Amino acid sequence: MERIMTNRLDRGFYKYQEEFEAAALRVLRSGWYILGKELEAFEEAYAAYTGAKYCVGLGNGLDALYLACRALGIGEGDEVIVQANTFIASVMGITMAGGTPVFVEPDEYYMIDTDRIEAAITPKTKAVMVVHLYGQSARMREVQAICKKHGLKLVEDCAQSHGSHWDGQMTGTFGDVGCFSFYPSKNLGAFGDGGAIVTNDEGLRDRIRQLRFYGSSVRYHNKEVGVNSRLDEIQAALLAVRLPHMAELIEERKQLAAAYDAGIKNDLIETPKIRDGAEHVYHQYVIRCEKRDDLIEYLKERGIDTIIHYPIPPHLSEAYAYLGIPKGAFPIAEHYADTVLSIPMFNGMTGEEQERVIAALNAYRG
Ligand SMILES: *Cc1c(COP(=O)(O)O)cnc(C)c1O
Repeated sequence: MERIMTNRLDRGFYKYQEEFEAAALRVLRSGWYILGKELEAFEEAYAAYTGAKYCVGLGNGLDALYLACRALGIGEGDEVIVQANTFIASVMGITMAGGTPVFVEPDEYYMIDTDRIEAAITPKTKAVMVVHLYGQSARMREVQAICKKHGLKLVEDCAQSHGSHWDGQMTGTFGDVGCFSFYPSKNLGAFGDGGAIVTNDEGLRDRIRQLRFYGSSVRYHNKEVGVNSRLDEIQAALLAVRLPHMAELIEERKQLAAAYDAGIKNDLIETPKIRDGAEHVYHQYVIRCEKRDDLIEYLKERGIDTIIHYPIPPHLSEAYAYLGIPKGAFPIAEHYADTVLSIPMFNGMTGEEQERVIAALNAYRG
């Protein structure tokens, strides 16, 4: 029996093979590979897709978060509130800019618990970073209201939420900046690294464009210490192929999720919940099990791969030991780290594969 992997990027390619190959060849033959018309066209198309005014293509999602923080003036001595159960890149974006992360517990939907944000605000707080984790949108109107009341900037980490709406508005357009990753496994994935920022603020757009190009808007006139972080022409062209198919790709994921929701019946396993008003685009389908590590072995023996997003919350990772936050400081996030499990969920997953996963989960006795 063939193994069922957590993702099959090859199927995502073959689905639109001819279009991808034509776009890649066009760029290869053009003789222009960085900062050209393919990027401009994708930036325009992606801004239009999200409903934001501007998009700036970048090298990856981490750079999007880091440059967003830089552009918003976050630096030494500034605190940024972020959920404790996120991927470490959210936190690295803050600390690379010189800021200090202030963690807040997640709610039962794995989003930042908006009821706990205000208690985390101090005179040093400069911004809130919301992560639409696993593809579900967070309660953005509440977060916006808190930011407005306290004069805080709002950054959205949309690396897992392309196309996901809250209250009819697309994630990434509620805050000052929406940060995206186009890492191959993301819902809108490139064939290599890629990222972008969307914003309605022309000044922020220009600053981020400057930062991504060695801190210059006019070549060799460097106004600040920037980075080199650009979305390649070839990646932009390939993303532009996938973008018009997003509605169909998201619908497919929702159908896979609905089949899991309906099919998984086991008291030892908790399936994901969706908040009223939220949309879930199922970047990951995350279940919870108290005997998670045992379940992983059990599934592995049956030819089913799984992955943990994420086994170590950022505050307990070695990288952030210097923050001095002890184990037990964020019991909800820590409990999630011990119990969450992402099961296979990808475009092109067959009904047969899904039935095998469901049958195995339902037969699990712990
Ligand atoms: C993938 C991801 C990132 C980082 O994106 P890269 O393109 O891999 O640098 C940041 N935040 C979250 C939540 C992610 O899932």
